[in-house]
Amino acid sequence: METLSVRCNHCGAPLQIGNGTRFVTCQFCQSNLEVKRTDSSVFTEEVAKIAENTGRMAESLGVIELQNEIERLDREWAQKEAGYISHGKNGPHRPSSSLFGLAFGIFFACVCFGMAVAMSNIAGSFHGGFSAMGLVPAGMGVFAIVAAVINMNKGVELERAESAHQARRAELLAKLQQARR
Ligand SMILES: [Zn+2]
Repeated sequence: METLSVRCNHCGAPLQIGNGTRFVTCQFCQSNLEVKRTDSSVFTEEVAKIAENTGRMAESLGVIELQNEIERLDREWAQKEAGYISHGKNGPHRPSSSLFGLAFGIFFACVCFGMAVAMSNIAGSFHGGFSAMGLVPAGMGVFAIVAAVINMNKGVELERAESAHQARRAELLAKLQQARR
């Protein structure tokens, strides 16, 4: 049988192998070796190392998958968030769940109702009796409260969606860190 001379990829010891041998164990360091052949050369590679490389490759595929997933999640969230943001004269407006908006709405409404009462009193002193003029600021006051409540509800909804998004993202990030380790 024709034999070939190769070197152990692990310890460098010379090895004699048969022409068709695919796997060999080094007599010196007991490494499991796979015989690789190219057109111009024959060399050996540790089998354990090959398995390790394959494992690393599968691992990095998992990492890439997770990275893609996080990217997709971020894109989806950006779209969703954009749906909540209205673009007014004062630039983009993000609905807020804070009570400040509602408090301001109520304050504004009180001013409007006060104006409504004052206006109908003034009008009443001229014409006698009820006047429809007070309905305009009264309507503005009601509108202010309704708008504030709608904004607050939207703000609560947005915050809930955001925290759900953050939780999902954190979960993926934790998985990613684990996969990278
Ligand atoms: Zn060896």
